[in-house]
Amino acid sequence: MLSVTGMESAYGRIKALKGISLQVGRGEVVALIGANGAGKTTFLRTVSGVQPMTAGTIEFEGQNISRLRPDQRVVRGICQCPEGRMVFGPMSIEDNLRLGAYTRKDNEILADMEKVYDLFPVLKEKRLLPAGSLSGGQQQMLAIGRALMGRPKLLLLDEPSMGLAPILVEEIFNVVRNLKAQGMTILLVEQNAFGALAVCDRAYVLETGTITLTGTGAELAANDQVRAAYLGM
Ligand code: ATP
Repeated sequence: MLSVTGMESAYGRIKALKGISLQVGRGEVVALIGANGAGKTTFLRTVSGVQPMTAGTIEFEGQNISRLRPDQRVVRGICQCPEGRMVFGPMSIEDNLRLGAYTRKDNEILADMEKVYDLFPVLKEKRLLPAGSLSGGQQQMLAIGRALMGRPKLLLLDEPSMGLAPILVEEIFNVVRNLKAQGMTILLVEQNAFGALAVCDRAYVLETGTITLTGTGAELAANDQVRAAYLGM
């Protein structure tokens, strides 16, 4: 579904991505793990088009989308749930969800909102309250719900477990499992390698802008290098 080849991206003279190649197949959950500053967020932002790509190609469903604007990529079905959730605090939960459907012109938006409410009943209970009144875990659910309102074919999740209490971390990884069971294709960026490797089909390890290892979640979880560097073993 997604095929990235030789992706480079830079902040001025700092090369953040040095030729990344990565594939995501339909229905797969693919994780990108790596330490703070490895380039994970830059990678996702370059896939969604908000960060300029200085070399490489991005193909989505067999078409080269490298030159499309971010909103055009959303219309094609690539929706990002950003790091740090970025919900609009003063706006209601429902209005935050509506924003996720901003590029849509069909009339199934309300039906999709009900699906998000089925996935996260707490959001329905609180739908008229400001998003800023939600707990961190609930805001993460809202951020995922907002991305789902774009009707993604490929959902990009940037550090969904960040800053959450362990029980909520587990809940968020369960949401990923649920979405996968419903057939969603997911590219998951995580510093929580343990959780990400348990939930993904395949994973890539990113170190200072370069992919250094790839394999199934189980293979990487058993890899000595990964265990020492990312699993604290
Ligand atoms: P984190 O887990 O902190 O999000 P990351 O793996 O997502 O880390 P990036 O945020 O993509 O890493 O950063 C990759 C590299 O690019 C780092 O060296 C970082 O310092 C640098 N960088 C990121 N954003 C900027 C920016 N706006 N200006 C300059 N350098 C940046």
